[in-house]
Amino acid sequence: MANTEEKNNWGIESSDTLYHISRWGDGYFSINELGHLTILPHQDKGKPSIDIMDIIEEVKNEGISLPVVIRFHDILRSQVVNLNRTFRDVIEEAEYHGRYYGVYPIKVNQMREVVEEIVDAGMPFNYGLEAGSKTELLSVIAFNQNQQALTILNGHKDTELLKLALLGRKIGRNVFVVIEKFSELLSLLDLSQEMNVPPLLGIRAKLSVKGTGQWSESGGEKAKFGLTIPEILKAVNLLKETNQSDSLKLLHFHIGSQISDIRVIKDAVKEGARIYAKLVKMGMPIEYFDVGGGLGIDYDGSRSTSDSSTNYSIWNYAEDIVYNLQQICDLEDVEHPHIISESGRAVTALHSCVITKVIDTISTSFPDNPIPKKTGEHILVENMREIMELLDEENYQEIYNDALENKAEAINAFKLGILSLEERATVETIFWKIAERINTILAKSDFVPEGLSGLEYITSPQYLCNFSVFQSLPDSWAIDQLVPIVPIMRLHERPTIPCTLADITCDSDGKINRFIDMKRDRHTLLLHNLQPDQDYYIGFFLTGAYQDVMGDNHNLFGRVNEVHVFFDDSDPSFYYIEEMIPGETCENVLTAMQYNARSMASTVKKLLNRQVQRGKLLPRESVRLMDFFETCLRGYTYLKK
Ligand SMILES: *Cc1c(COP(=O)(O)O)cnc(C)c1O
Repeated sequence: MANTEEKNNWGIESSDTLYHISRWGDGYFSINELGHLTILPHQDKGKPSIDIMDIIEEVKNEGISLPVVIRFHDILRSQVVNLNRTFRDVIEEAEYHGRYYGVYPIKVNQMREVVEEIVDAGMPFNYGLEAGSKTELLSVIAFNQNQQALTILNGHKDTELLKLALLGRKIGRNVFVVIEKFSELLSLLDLSQEMNVPPLLGIRAKLSVKGTGQWSESGGEKAKFGLTIPEILKAVNLLKETNQSDSLKLLHFHIGSQISDIRVIKDAVKEGARIYAKLVKMGMPIEYFDVGGGLGIDYDGSRSTSDSSTNYSIWNYAEDIVYNLQQICDLEDVEHPHIISESGRAVTALHSCVITKVIDTISTSFPDNPIPKKTGEHILVENMREIMELLDEENYQEIYNDALENKAEAINAFKLGILSLEERATVETIFWKIAERINTILAKSDFVPEGLSGLEYITSPQYLCNFSVFQSLPDSWAIDQLVPIVPIMRLHERPTIPCTLADITCDSDGKINRFIDMKRDRHTLLLHNLQPDQDYYIGFFLTGAYQDVMGDNHNLFGRVNEVHVFFDDSDPSFYYIEEMIPGETCENVLTAMQYNARSMASTVKKLLNRQVQRGKLLPRESVRLMDFFETCLRGYTYLKK
């Protein structure tokens, strides 16, 4: 390696610090001595690890192209166990009288394999499922095999959906219908009489406590779901009058997803606990206290209250729920209810990642050779030359400001017709050369002055990556969600290129220019220089919740290939791939958009035939072109290079 010196003062620990791997990785990710990113399925550095490069090689050998989603089923199982064990342990420690009955909300990742794995791992804990729509309830009724586990139905409901819930009751499932608006209660009571099965009723309360961040509107008075206190009392009276109080078994609230501040959770639990206690005292036999979702993930590793982080652990979360609920129940002298949480993000986010390849660099280019001085040059051009000559290691900040100002003046002059096209080009070229030199100076110093942090951004190249932000990281585009992005390889080498990322859609929003950092907004990511003879792979991590299933077909890029990886102690690489699921072909995506790929092919075939008849194309060539068209239709939507 040419830069042995650099290699020497850069180790895998330096990469760990730079990419914050230990901070967001929750013990599941590490770096091996080859400089490759690895998975630790047991969250234990003393146990075997899986080298992600091994998986990439195997996938490539199987003819599966990138981008590819890798699912680590062991992480999924481990998260289910962690959540359930934590609640069990905290409940035991607190000597709390109720039990924990978690449910997994399948909207967070509805992939059948994901739901099956969660149900299986959750079996010993009677871990249940939550549905928020008709289609979800159809699958949840079928998949929630454990008769002890709960099934919870949230969301807006029509008669059909309520009937479906009662059907679940008929076949022995504990389907709780959570009433989101008053009219649902009336329909449900009518239907249950008609179908002759008592419902299991829950009520979603609109708390005054609001979440923070992106989903703050899920709580508070203006929330889309839930009953206000007067409505809850109206419901209670109705149940009493019709002698159906016995059906009300559950109190629910949900104040939003990714709650970053533990204090908000505490406040919500306290408010909810009071409502629970008062209802019990009114004679409502509520047994379950459902705190909804909101358990967050520390995407940026900062352990802070920023939108992409959380200032608490799962343990803190369980503690705050159990102890606060216990305290208020004891004060109010009511039974401790069983606790339900509908944590989806925390269960699934860590288990999957998207791997892709950097395929090119996009950078502002300008002629390398010096620009010869001409006689009679415009003063703005002359100024720019002088500014460049004055630049040294002391005055770069001042020089940069002067250069910016002179460039702005030159562009104005051009607009007024005073500066020629060539002169403008000269001014811009010199400006970029100045910027480049300042960058070189900055690279050597640890300190970047405030005014110059933007310089790195505007002069940094974009690494073009074979993926679509809209398909694989929709929350990055829609709500500025940060995700950790890390090279899979060369982590023992110093990365030297500050860059931003661009995807292959033709949408200018298809880019990533915000990256995780402990202190401030980071607009560039340090990656390695690309080498002509070596592929360069990067990964987007913590994509298992929402991102995985919400992606859209912008530009007709479809779902990506995916592989399901299991840890295996007896395998030399410590893993095996259980399943490879091909991503969408161009034909699939077109069909979903109502195109008929067959008739498109036959149109092209007709046109080719016509050219053959006209003597403009050889028959042999026409057949070859037709084959090529059909191969493309059947092929992957992403770039093949
Ligand atoms: C979305 C949602 C959840 C899941 O929330 P997470 O923050 O992902 O755990 C739980 N309950 C309800 C009612 C939801 O709408």
